[in-house]
Amino acid sequence: MREDTYRHKGLRAAMVADLRRKGIDDEAVLSAMDKVPRHLFLDLALDNMAYDDAALPIGCEQTISQPSTVAMQSHLLNIKPGMKVLEIGTGSGYQTAVLCQMGARVFSVERQQPLFVRTKKLLAELHYHARCYLGDGYQGLTEVDYSPYDRIIITCGAPFIPPALMKQLRTGGLMVIPVGEQQQEMLRITKNGESEADWQVEHFGNFKFVPMLDGKQFKS
Ligand code: SAH
Repeated sequence: MREDTYRHKGLRAAMVADLRRKGIDDEAVLSAMDKVPRHLFLDLALDNMAYDDAALPIGCEQTISQPSTVAMQSHLLNIKPGMKVLEIGTGSGYQTAVLCQMGARVFSVERQQPLFVRTKKLLAELHYHARCYLGDGYQGLTEVDYSPYDRIIITCGAPFIPPALMKQLRTGGLMVIPVGEQQQEMLRITKNGESEADWQVEHFGNFKFVPMLDGKQFKS
């Protein structure tokens, strides 16, 4: 297992200071991001860039979300310890770890088998007790049913709000989802009732995510 050195801790503190400069003032989020060793979620070759505010490759043509995006989505979720959170798009597992660090009980779905296998093992080694599943996030989590979730986060660009996901969100719960094709608008949906008329939608600006794709994928 690679180490979390003083140099990494220093880079992490600088990353948190940079997030503050960029207007993130959610102390629960900043404290979690100050603790999670982001470099361990990346290839050793990217070690020097791990704490830059950049999206970096993680294999399977996917990228780890940049720190400011992770901070934004984590902030919008308004996590309280013990909440059940469904995450779609496990990827590197970094966002998963940040949510675990904030005290959430995380259920995470990834469609690409190589990422699923690698990240499930890594999270366990780092003692983040997220439950990881291979599946198609358009359907939510179908392998086991822990619904309804207090919070749902989608970390890939969704062309629309998947109805199965809204069904698995508890009434009163929040979903944070980037919606759009080429670029996405960050939406936060408050589910005040079952019917769409009861969903309150807030807008938080434009982002660029890798696309949310259909089905499971077994090849790298
Ligand atoms: N939070 C992750 C983001 C990785 S990129 C991180 O910071 O590392 C988005 C991830 O969503 C990719 O791993 C991609 O394979 C996955 N993904 C895309 N469509 C999906 C779907 N339908 N269901 C589950 N995961 C999906």
